[in-house]
Amino acid sequence: MNVIGKVTVLPQLPEAIARLSELAYNLYWSWTPHAQALYSELDSEIWERFQRNPVRTLLEVPQERLLEVAANSEYVARYTQVMADFDAYMNKKDTWATKNATNLKPVAYFSMEYAYHESLPIYSGGLGVLAGDHCKSASDLDLPFTAVGMLFHQGYFRQLFNKDGWQEEAYDELDLTTLPITPALIADGTQARVKVNIGTRDVHVRLWNLQIGRIRVILLDANVPENSEDDRKLTARLYGGNQELRVQQYVLLGVAGIRALRVLNVPASVYHMNEGHAALMGLERIREYVEGGLDFRSAVETVASSTLFTTHTPVPAGNDAFTYELMDTYIGKWPALMNAGRDDLYGLARHDQFWDNHWVPSFSMTVFALNMSRAANGVSELHGEVSRKMWNFLYEGATPEEVPIGHVTNGAHNLTFTSQAMRDLLGTVLPADWTERLEDEDMWKAVDSLSDAQLSDVQRTMKREMIAFVRRSQREQMLRNGASAADVAATENLLSENALTIGFARRFATYKRATLLFRDKARLNAIINNPERPVQFVFAGKAHPADNPGKAFIQEIYRVSQEPEFRGKIVILENYDMNVARHLVQGVDIWLNNPRRPLEASGTSGMKASFNGSPNFSVLDGWWREGFDGTNGWPIGDEREYADLNLQDDADAYSLYSHLENDIVPRYYGELAGADSWAHTVRRAIETCSPRFSMQRQVIDYVRQYYIPLSVRGEAVAADGSASARQIAGWKTWVRQQWPHTQITASADLPTTAQPGQTVTVTANVNPAGIHPEELKVEAVLSRGEHRIRVPLSYNQNNTYTAQVPLKDSGLYSIGVRMVPEIAGLSNELELGLIKWA
Ligand SMILES: *Cc1c(COP(=O)(O)O)cnc(C)c1O
Repeated sequence: MNVIGKVTVLPQLPEAIARLSELAYNLYWSWTPHAQALYSELDSEIWERFQRNPVRTLLEVPQERLLEVAANSEYVARYTQVMADFDAYMNKKDTWATKNATNLKPVAYFSMEYAYHESLPIYSGGLGVLAGDHCKSASDLDLPFTAVGMLFHQGYFRQLFNKDGWQEEAYDELDLTTLPITPALIADGTQARVKVNIGTRDVHVRLWNLQIGRIRVILLDANVPENSEDDRKLTARLYGGNQELRVQQYVLLGVAGIRALRVLNVPASVYHMNEGHAALMGLERIREYVEGGLDFRSAVETVASSTLFTTHTPVPAGNDAFTYELMDTYIGKWPALMNAGRDDLYGLARHDQFWDNHWVPSFSMTVFALNMSRAANGVSELHGEVSRKMWNFLYEGATPEEVPIGHVTNGAHNLTFTSQAMRDLLGTVLPADWTERLEDEDMWKAVDSLSDAQLSDVQRTMKREMIAFVRRSQREQMLRNGASAADVAATENLLSENALTIGFARRFATYKRATLLFRDKARLNAIINNPERPVQFVFAGKAHPADNPGKAFIQEIYRVSQEPEFRGKIVILENYDMNVARHLVQGVDIWLNNPRRPLEASGTSGMKASFNGSPNFSVLDGWWREGFDGTNGWPIGDEREYADLNLQDDADAYSLYSHLENDIVPRYYGELAGADSWAHTVRRAIETCSPRFSMQRQVIDYVRQYYIPLSVRGEAVAADGSASARQIAGWKTWVRQQWPHTQITASADLPTTAQPGQTVTVTANVNPAGIHPEELKVEAVLSRGEHRIRVPLSYNQNNTYTAQVPLKDSGLYSIGVRMVPEIAGLSNELELGLIKWA
């Protein structure tokens, strides 16, 4: 057919169920299975066909069906209950924030991707799930919070396996009228738009609202007729295309994102950049202050003082960096808009890289983000450590532990990933308000009183559902690939509900080592095909479209799954998305993760499995290094670092098989009792991981460690026309200029041997080059093994500083002396990044 136009005919909802439409536009339903049930029951076939999308379902369901359910008193009763719960959630007054965060100022959160639900495919993996879950908990806690992101109209991609098990990508154009979004309106009632200059063009961006419980997400959409065909594609695909496209997308997210907040009058005092993708928000925020009369440096201070940066990438190559020439093409006009030189701006992002056999300066999104924030964090304790080492070079003279990057360990949104059956069971022992106190560790101890049978009933039910889901998915894939009737029929026998079932699903980045399990196939065969104690595996995951090694992993798993001894016992599912994730984490017995340590910044899927009583079995990396307590799951390998990756793989595979053979399998099949019993491990997984790795705990950590301090400091630095920012900026410029002329020498009056408790005199002579003595922190640094102590030297006269430094314990001490410029009002003493050692 030749389409000459399109029109959406809205459903006419009968009075008795009138608010189904309103609810469809609030993703509250995405963590409320009872709400989803109202839509799926309208027509389960439509519901499934359109990715369980309530808006689409209402558009597709015939009017007679709506009339029918409206006349069904049982349906209407459930509808009434869901709406009452929804209203109670939305209108609750004594929320966590009203009690605990009264001095919190409005937060604006920027992320390239968000995973809220599979029907809104604007995410690729863990980063998106994290951002989506963060919003959901911000809503649960009632924070003043707005999120900004991109409306990718072709999403990431839909993954299909061909008959050889090779990944193929399909891009579906989304029909916006079927999504749970509404136009973001300005005062005159029209849809808001902003304009961004990218290179030589003005790109028009249309704004949409997405409602996540109590909070609002603003989505940017460049797919409008005013734009050229190429510009319309700027918001087509997530992580598609080349570096050129990437930079332009980052300009859009950062600059159009800030303009969107302004045109919609959304208050924002604290800015949170989720990964370096969002860093270019700094351009627009600096420009605003410069336009208001501030100089460039003071504007930078003002902007950074209210900004938090979360880094997620533990490998240098994973951090986006672009040539200066590429940046010139797309942001070449910006220095002038900020009354700054090119080097002033690019200097804030500079990372010299060894490219094509020589050193070239690059514009690093991460370096820019670090410089455009006054607080930064990694996403687990170990990742914090790794990040401090990785960015240590930006703070010459500092030790890694001094690098001002902290950590908040990730969490997951419990209700999004916990099955309704498990929620119902938990509700029998937890207090009535348990869904509002998810981070409360004491509360979760009540899980001890759940019986073995209660838990195994729920888990068996969920496992059956998962197996049915796997069979349907495999059947569809077989039919599409033209498989034989016998092969299609065989999908009915895939997996057994009586076998110990292990799940493995994630992005197929090579460091995740999806094929580690196959390192010793004979040993694996013996584990899987033990007739008394069978074991089976379900895999899923997407490789980035350009990642052929990742795709080869998928194909290898597919091929192994077709080998006679593994058929029906190893399965790889296509199109890993939130729907597949929910089925797996709710239905498997154990969750497996074996990344190459320390490359998994956090990982979150194992948390989701633990919430459902599927204990985690993983390398001690990311969150599991903190979560594993000896009773709630199993480790793989140890905390050793290997230089030889092959050796590491061998050791980890050996550990994986041994744990399965000696502990996990016997435990699952009831050969161990008491504290070693399976049910005990399940209870421990639920009660230890649910609170500590709840997204609620994570967001509370962000509020306390970062959002509130930044609210206070950001306001102070910006007060009185940025008086404090001007002072800090002026001082920094002066100190930077003088620093090369400063000198420090030091001496210590040391005996050859000393007694514990003895003190030694340390003296430093400084040429301050005009810097005020009080603005130089001169200190002795004592290190004894791993241990470091710092002792301040006090100013005497004539530019000398001294201290009596105690040598507390026995041992070999090394003593150094250094100076660091410092004034009151800085966020941390290394803000300037200047340290000089004697
Ligand atoms: C939770 C989740 C992830 C992230 O899991 P990791 O443990 O970080 O690998 C990725 N994709 C989907 C669909 C998820 O639900």
